[in-house]
Amino acid sequence: MNHQQPQPVKKKKCQFCESDSPYIDYKNLNQIAKYTTELKRIKPRYYTGVCLNHQKSLGKAIKVARIMGLLPFVPRVR
Ligand SMILES: [Zn+2]
Repeated sequence: MNHQQPQPVKKKKCQFCESDSPYIDYKNLNQIAKYTTELKRIKPRYYTGVCLNHQKSLGKAIKVARIMGLLPFVPRVR
């Protein structure tokens, strides 16, 4: 995956509300990985523009993905 510079999202509409499926799948790593910082924390809502409902289910999805070993809890230390 590309190294991502933290950039505030320009449009402030919730991307999950706009997408066809309002359900956030924890297996959809490409999608939910965008909402974690380089320190693998969930990005705050003012940064991503995700609405409150989706921020909650996004947090759940990220936590499930972590438990399943799909996302790291902490960045890899060398
Ligand atoms: Zn939403």
